[in-house]
Amino acid sequence: MPHVFSITAIQGDITDQQVDAVVNAANHSLMGGGGVDGAIHRRGGPRIKEECKRLRAERYPDGLPTGQAVATTAGDLPARWVIHTVGPTYSRSEDRSHLLASCHTEALRVADELGAKKVAFPAISTGAYGYPLEEAAPIAVRAVMDADTHVEEVRFVLFDADAHRIYEDALRAAQGSG
Ligand code: ADP
Repeated sequence: MPHVFSITAIQGDITDQQVDAVVNAANHSLMGGGGVDGAIHRRGGPRIKEECKRLRAERYPDGLPTGQAVATTAGDLPARWVIHTVGPTYSRSEDRSHLLASCHTEALRVADELGAKKVAFPAISTGAYGYPLEEAAPIAVRAVMDADTHVEEVRFVLFDADAHRIYEDALRAAQGSG
């Protein structure tokens, strides 16, 4: 069964990435928001929102459920597609790690449908949705490592130095343990 060949973590802005698909940490509405979502819609231009509106009308009248993923054009971004996924909000009393893992496996499944080989992920759920980076990073890394996919390269793109270090550590730990 095929696995991602190269998994890396870099510090940067996800809207700068020249990849086939950029993953968006979206919300149920698909109508844009802050953080990564806001940056993607700002730089990608209005075509992304037009497709999101159509998806809401035709496929997701109640919004995109947590842990699922759907693709649109990337508009003016230097990528071909945006894959929108909705991460879980963090809860101290309930383990939602399966939903965070699902965001990654579902995004890779959509990437396979598109034929995307290089995919950039942000640190899903670690901004407005409140996941501690130390908890989110190993879940994200493990989900990508274990995925059965034809995607060849996954790049985690972290906005700041702290997040970058934490994802690098998680990658090193996971690759060390196989
Ligand atoms: P969520 O709602 O899933 O928590 P956010 O967009 O609020 O998503 O935040 C997710 C992570 O993305 C945070 O760690 C935030 O610092 C980071 N981030 C925000 N803007 C960008 C960007 N342009 N590129 C990469 N990462 C970003």
